[in-house]
Amino acid sequence: MNTPLQLVNIQKHFKDGDNEIEILKDLNLSVEKGEFVAVVGPSGSGKSTVLSIAGALQSADGGEVVINGRDINQYSDKDKSDVRLKSIGYIFQAANLVPFLNVYDQLKLVTELAGDWNDETKKRADDLLESVGLANKAKKTVQHLSGGEKQRVAIARAFMNDPDIILADEPTAALDANRSKEIVELIAKEVHDKNKAAIMVTHDESVLHYCDKIYEVHDKKLRLRK
Ligand code: ADP
Ligand code: MG
Repeated sequence: MNTPLQLVNIQKHFKDGDNEIEILKDLNLSVEKGEFVAVVGPSGSGKSTVLSIAGALQSADGGEVVINGRDINQYSDKDKSDVRLKSIGYIFQAANLVPFLNVYDQLKLVTELAGDWNDETKKRADDLLESVGLANKAKKTVQHLSGGEKQRVAIARAFMNDPDIILADEPTAALDANRSKEIVELIAKEVHDKNKAAIMVTHDESVLHYCDKIYEVHDKKLRLRK
């Protein structure tokens, strides 16, 4: 089976003055194609750390991060940035858009960076903006959008390079219940329609029913919630 994302025996600690604080210990996780996984747990338990290690945004102290069958520790820096740009779509709590660009150009930018801006991807940008309900705001500068709209732009941007893996860190934390539902529905639809692998860190119990599996951080590992 071709598993998009595997974490194998991940270890992570941080230094706090002279102390070493162990955050993750022998953590394992596999996410299959078409699987939308939630990670829940108390604040400070290591959820964002797991996600950023899975997304090659920070390195683990030990263990393997296997993306599409290859341990990223063996990647060159160039391959790692390629993976970040093309194989993974990131969605954060604050949409993290480029403030002075319009909606359309947020999508264009990431695709230009990947070297793929062409007729096909232009159409993809149009289709994505349509699917997140922002076709009529394509030329608006993102500063003028509401929080929910910004997050929908961030989602379209995350999907733009057609990543195999989608990683979302508390994507609904800044939104009200209705907007939260819309955002998670969009992620769930992309995962299930296009057979992607996704992890969403969340505090929001009301959106967990969109996920196929729920893991809790427990004892510095992930434990499947029954
Ligand atoms: P969560 O997302 O579950 O709230 P995090 O993964 O952000 O938790 O953080 C887990 C723990 O690691 C927290 O105690 C946090 O303070 C600590 N931590 C996270 N990043 C760093 C860092 N870069 N340096 C030192 N400590 C950190
Ligand atoms: Mg966090």
